Amino acid sequence: MTAGTSYYYHRIVHLGSYTLRAQVHRDITPYNSYGTAELLSADLTWTNLKWTHGERWTKDTPQPCDVTDAKAVLTNVADELIRRATAILHNGTAVPQQSLDLMGALLTLAYGSTGEHAITAADVRWAKENGGPFRVVPKPDGTVLLTKAHRYDCPLLATQGAEACDDRCLPTNPPPSRSDWSSQ
Ligand SMILES: [Zn+2]
Repeated sequence: MTAGTSYYYHRIVHLGSYTLRAQVHRDITPYNSYGTAELLSADLTWTNLKWTHGERWTKDTPQPCDVTDAKAVLTNVADELIRRATAILHNGTAVPQQSLDLMGALLTLAYGSTGEHAITAADVRWAKENGGPFRVVPKPDGTVLLTKAHRYDCPLLATQGAEACDDRCLPTNPPPSRSDWSSQ
């Protein structure tokens, strides 16, 4: 907080398996004031769900030079952001149903029809650092190819499946043994 030119309030909220962060920044002008509600993603980065422009609420809050308790004056804005972000999560639109269906199918193929597997942030980082980029390639016949077997500039990925692999794809790194993934 820089006295006199701006003030802000941040809040973290845990909703079941979700972690939400509301940030409200009050600048001298409504134009430079804003609030965001973000969701903590699987790889521990923040994904924006909601945004509010300062025009909507700066008139209800004191100028930076006059504020004594930033939390008290910005808490209503943070409440509203959290409420709107929570509505999105409860509607299930944070992850499209088709993506959930594909993840469910992949889990079932790997671990059976009652499969269950926890993915840690370290797992997500490891997956990003090994093999090719993860891509979802829809095929004309309705099948969907989930792949990490191709390099970034492979024709298959570059054309979203319209052209075949040129057979020059090599794994970036031989994946280390992950026997715990196949034995559960
Ligand atoms: Zn390829």
